[in-house]
Amino acid sequence: MFDNLTDKLDKAFHILKGHGKITDVNVADTLKEVRRALLDADVNFKIAKDFTTRVKEKAIGENVLTTLQPGQLMVKIVKDELTELMGGDAEGVNLSGNPSVILMSGLQGSGKTTFSGKLANFLKTKKNKKPLLVACDIYRPAAINQLHVVGEQIGVEVYSEPENKNPVEIAQNAIKHAKSNGFNVVIVDTAGRLAVDEEMMNEIANVHKAIQPQETLFVVDSMTGQDAVNTAKAFNDRLNFDGVILTKLDGDTRGGAAISIKSVVNKPIKFIGTGEKMEAIDVFYPSRMADRILG
Ligand code: GDP
Repeated sequence: MFDNLTDKLDKAFHILKGHGKITDVNVADTLKEVRRALLDADVNFKIAKDFTTRVKEKAIGENVLTTLQPGQLMVKIVKDELTELMGGDAEGVNLSGNPSVILMSGLQGSGKTTFSGKLANFLKTKKNKKPLLVACDIYRPAAINQLHVVGEQIGVEVYSEPENKNPVEIAQNAIKHAKSNGFNVVIVDTAGRLAVDEEMMNEIANVHKAIQPQETLFVVDSMTGQDAVNTAKAFNDRLNFDGVILTKLDGDTRGGAAISIKSVVNKPIKFIGTGEKMEAIDVFYPSRMADRILG
C-alpha cells in the first residue's frame, strides 16, 4: 500500500538522518521533499502546502535543530500530523436504531455493493447483528442480482422488489419488513452513476429524507485520487454523510484520497476495502495508516 509515497518520504528523511549537524537549510529541504512526495501521491496542493507549514511550525516549536536525533523527531512530527489529517480516533457506525438503518452512497463501480456485503458480514460475525441487505438500484437488474449473490455468500437475506421503480418505496418497505422479521440492521444499497448528476443526487437525497438513516456512508474508489475528493464533496454537500469508506486500497493506489478526504469533507474514514472477498474489510485507524505510510 502506498509504496511509492513511503519510498519518497523515506528519502526525504535521509537528508536529515545523513547529516551530523543539522541546519535549517536541511530541514527546509526535507520539508520540500515531503511536500513533493505528497503531491506525487495525488494530495491536493493546498493540503500538502498547509501540511508542511504545520510540520515546520511544530519542528521550530520543538527545537528540532538542537535535539540529538532530529531525523527521528521529524518523522514523529510528520506521523502525528498525518494522523491528525486523516482523522482522530477510529469511529464505528451508529447502531443505535431499531432497526439501525445504514444508507450507502457513491458512484457506480466504487464498490458499494461489495462493501454493503462486507459490512453486513462484519456486523453479523463480529457484532452479533442480524442485518438485512436492501437492493435499491432500479436501473440495473444486474445490480440486484449481484446483491443477491453477495447475500447468499454470507448468509444474509436480501430484500428487493424488481418490479418497483420507486427507490423510496422499496427502502421504506424493506424497513417495515425488517421490523416485522427481527432484523436489527438494514443496509440500503443504492443506484450509482458513472459521474455525479442531478438526477442521481435527487434520488438518493429523497431516499435519505424518507428513511432518515442512523448512518449514511459514502463509498469511494481510492484509485481515483483527487476525483475521489471532488466526488466526496459533491455527495457531502447533498447528503451531509457520516463517514467515508475507501475501497480498493489493495490496488496500486497512490494514497492521495486517504490523506486528503477527511480535511476536505470533515468526515471520518470509517472502513477500508482491501480486496474483492467479503472478509477484505478493515476498520480505519488513522495512526496505523500513518505508520504504514511512513514505512
Ligand atoms: P458498485 O457499482 O459501487 O456497487 O461497485 P461494486 O461493488 O460492483 O464493485 C465494483 C468492482 O470493484 C467489482 O469488480 C468489485 O469486485 C471490485 N471491488 C470492490 N471493492 C474492492 C476492493 O476493496 N478491492 C478490490 N481489489 N476490488 C474491489
